[in-house]
Amino acid sequence: MFVQELVLRQRAEILNALCSSGSAEHLEQVLDILLAQGELIWEDYQNIHVPGRALYTNARELLDLVYTKGLETCGLFLAALKQVLPKVHGVDLTFSGYCSNLEEKEEYQSTSTQTLLTQRPSLVTKLQCCIDGALKALVISGHFTSADCNEVQLPIHTPSQQYIQQEPESGSPLEKWTPPKEVLKYQKKLSSSVSAQSCFLSAYAGTSHMSLDDIYTKCELELAHHCVDVHGPLGLEDILGTVGTVNEDADTVLVSGDAGGGKSTLLQRLHLLWARGSAFQDFLLLFPFSCRRLNSETRELSVQELLFQHCCWPDREQEEIFQFILDHPHLILFTFDGLDELKQSFSDEHRLCCPTQRAPVHILLFNLIQGSLLKGVRKVVTSRPEAVGPVLKKHLRKEVLLKGFSPSAVDCFVRKHHSDPTVAAKVLESLQTNPALLGLCHSPVLCWIVSQCHKELLGCGDGSPQTITDVYLMILQHFFQHQTSPKSSTGLDWLPEHLQTVLHLGKLAFEGIGATCYIFSDPDLETCGVTEKDICMGFLIQSKAMPPTHSKCYEFLHVTLQCFFAALYIVLSNNTDRSTIPRLFEPRNMRVTGLSSTCFMACIPSTDKQGWALEGEARAAETPNLQITATFVSGLLSQRHQRLWLHCCSTAVIEKRVRQVVRCLSKGMQKHFKSIPQPVEGEKKSMHAMPDFVWLIKCIYEMQESKIAKNAMSKLEVDHLKLTYCNIGPVECTALAYVLQHLRNPVGLQLDNNSVGDVGVEQLLPCMHICNSLYLRNNNITDEGIRKLLAKGIQCDDLRKIALFNNKLTDACTQHFSHFLKTKQNFLSLRLGNNNITEEGAKQLAEGLKFNHSLQYLGLWGNKIGDAGTEALASALENSKSLVWLSLVGNGVGSAGACALANIIKNSMSLEELWLTENCITRTGVECLIEALEHNTHVKSVWLRNNDLSLQEVEEMTQRESRLTF
Ligand code: ADP
Repeated sequence: MFVQELVLRQRAEILNALCSSGSAEHLEQVLDILLAQGELIWEDYQNIHVPGRALYTNARELLDLVYTKGLETCGLFLAALKQVLPKVHGVDLTFSGYCSNLEEKEEYQSTSTQTLLTQRPSLVTKLQCCIDGALKALVISGHFTSADCNEVQLPIHTPSQQYIQQEPESGSPLEKWTPPKEVLKYQKKLSSSVSAQSCFLSAYAGTSHMSLDDIYTKCELELAHHCVDVHGPLGLEDILGTVGTVNEDADTVLVSGDAGGGKSTLLQRLHLLWARGSAFQDFLLLFPFSCRRLNSETRELSVQELLFQHCCWPDREQEEIFQFILDHPHLILFTFDGLDELKQSFSDEHRLCCPTQRAPVHILLFNLIQGSLLKGVRKVVTSRPEAVGPVLKKHLRKEVLLKGFSPSAVDCFVRKHHSDPTVAAKVLESLQTNPALLGLCHSPVLCWIVSQCHKELLGCGDGSPQTITDVYLMILQHFFQHQTSPKSSTGLDWLPEHLQTVLHLGKLAFEGIGATCYIFSDPDLETCGVTEKDICMGFLIQSKAMPPTHSKCYEFLHVTLQCFFAALYIVLSNNTDRSTIPRLFEPRNMRVTGLSSTCFMACIPSTDKQGWALEGEARAAETPNLQITATFVSGLLSQRHQRLWLHCCSTAVIEKRVRQVVRCLSKGMQKHFKSIPQPVEGEKKSMHAMPDFVWLIKCIYEMQESKIAKNAMSKLEVDHLKLTYCNIGPVECTALAYVLQHLRNPVGLQLDNNSVGDVGVEQLLPCMHICNSLYLRNNNITDEGIRKLLAKGIQCDDLRKIALFNNKLTDACTQHFSHFLKTKQNFLSLRLGNNNITEEGAKQLAEGLKFNHSLQYLGLWGNKIGDAGTEALASALENSKSLVWLSLVGNGVGSAGACALANIIKNSMSLEELWLTENCITRTGVECLIEALEHNTHVKSVWLRNNDLSLQEVEEMTQRESRLTF
């Protein structure tokens, strides 16, 4: 029993000893030994040793497994640990007496596979210095192919890279030494080209450029959920800093975010800061790439050609400069914008490790990202989340999520955008009166449109925009009216007047999306009938992304605008197929059947067409763009907009298309509902929604017809709706609330691990009355969001449970909870773990708890409540007749707090579990608890692991009171 206990009690120390060096070596050695001893089987090994996962997570996995395997495994584990970590300084692992003996298994091995396993630790040591020779021998004997050897040896380092790896540099690498002259010259050329490319945002007002410095507004950045242990806001520089690193061996940082979320702009800022010498100066050379542009590279290239031809050509000494890059990878940074726009999905199957070998550009790119090419060069890649699969995740150093504008950033952006402060103030004022629109402004591209169209916005009175479609219709009108004489297009006439332009651009957009094409050449424009006049409207801009040698190319101001035009085409054109709408709403099928007509391939050079067509299924960008297009189609076919189409398309055709969309949405919903499993007896009926479900909800919202929403929800019968990890931000919350408010029975709404934020919370308020539980764990919510949530929640009779674990709550929200608890006498469960609530907050909460007679569960794990806070809570709860479960785990509670809690135990007839793990309670405190337990038979357990108690005390007290768990 003791050995097992030791593994548990010393968990933190063991983890630290195994992982604190940042190298996986110690963990791997322990795994080797346990494999050799037969304590782990191969499957266990693979479950623990997951490349790309945080080292600590792997080690925790091992500890859990060892513990559950029991006494003997724990003994062998400790022995292995002792062998691997004989003299780790500063680590106090006191288990020497409890280890089993490790024996080299000498007995006769029946097969060589067995020998490989049982002798693994010593084989690994022996092989270290002769791996090359061993591989050679295996190849000669025909047991290994060269691909097998690659698998073992990748990544391959150049001799100087190996040298650099052996000699880690201290401090900034550029401090001590000056790079060769030719490299410095090249750097100058490169940085002035990067600076020229990044100092303007060209999307503004079509032709007029706005300087990035003048308009750049900070977006919210967050580490992806698997590394949430960092608090505080993340800055641009953290993208390349150490914070949040999950895989030290990987070189690639992923920045993911929705379309229009600001990924390209963020990279542009990064480039500009580097080129000016204001940040990222650890990197001597920065090579920016656009995946959109790489799509049109049809030649096979070597890495050298890729760098020099696509970024900046060295005037002389190319070989020397490239050699410098190979030899100093840690001084080089690559950025790849829009991985989702690449025609091929990321794959690590085709390995390449030779920097001079030519290959198709996407193969180069994938090998650079995974580090088999130019290992050590840092890479930043941006992508929409949908295009990031598990294969790519394996190769990531870290993942940063781009979360759009916070409410204060919206404010800041609008003020920057308008030099006239009165205009800015008016725009902001009108946003404040329209929560749905304010929610949309969380997305930078929508914020830009809304701000840009301030005249339309301020002049629209009651019909102010609610949906994404409304916002894009506004920009459509804005551009048309700016390009033509103001008299000619007033009221609703503006559309028929420009119908031809809409159809030309619509066809271009529609064909482009079907073909994963975002850059259009002259022949493409011609095929779709796009004229000079159409181009002048400003929706298309000249593509910066093409090499200067190329003839003029165009792209839409933003990919979402391309989707919008594609949707306009689907709604208005007489040339689309009857099956277009049904297929649009089943994007997964579309991949196979193909949306696009064949006429449109001009943007793809003919040599590439065949190979490209074959890869149809592997295209990454399609589904998200098709889904955005479908959302716009729903919006455009909403009743509210049908007046617009009066003189553009026959009413009968429009009505038919509306019916098609409504049918598709209803069918799509049905499909989700059918996937709900029948509940096990006694359990609730629960639906775990997929991201596609959220998309359908958004389409329904765009239609703005409560009848459709009601209809969809009337068939959903669940007790619990789980929407975790669905990338739900404020925009999605607005749509969810719009649709879910029509549910017939109250549900538990679980939105854990999304990006709801304060703005999203506000958007959810209209559906609060149908929630009996609301789970918002890990959602970036602050006190302000809570204030609004509780003000509404207090009026919602059915709301019984709230979980807010891991948000940004402080003492400033506890007065609202206090009022809430005082007032709501049917409330059952409040979980506020892992926030920033201190003694003061606990005292406020206690004020409310004193008057509450219903609360059963109170979770405050991982705050900073301390003794005084605990005393206040205990005194408020000591006469509670409802409290069943209380957790103050990890709150700096000492014996004074424990003695106060003992009073609850003394009086309570309801309390069953008290959690006090990871505090600093000493014997005095536990004595109080034991004494109180003598008068209480109702309490089932008091958890006291990891407090200030010696082994003897633990042993003795366990014997005295079995309900104490140490
Ligand atoms: P993504 O690459 O994620 O699709 P973009 O970076 O192209 O998004 O952003 C779309 C538009 O939103 C930009 O053209 C710009 O107008 C605006 N925008 C995005 N991020 C910012 C920012 N940080 N500051 C100011 N404007 C921004």
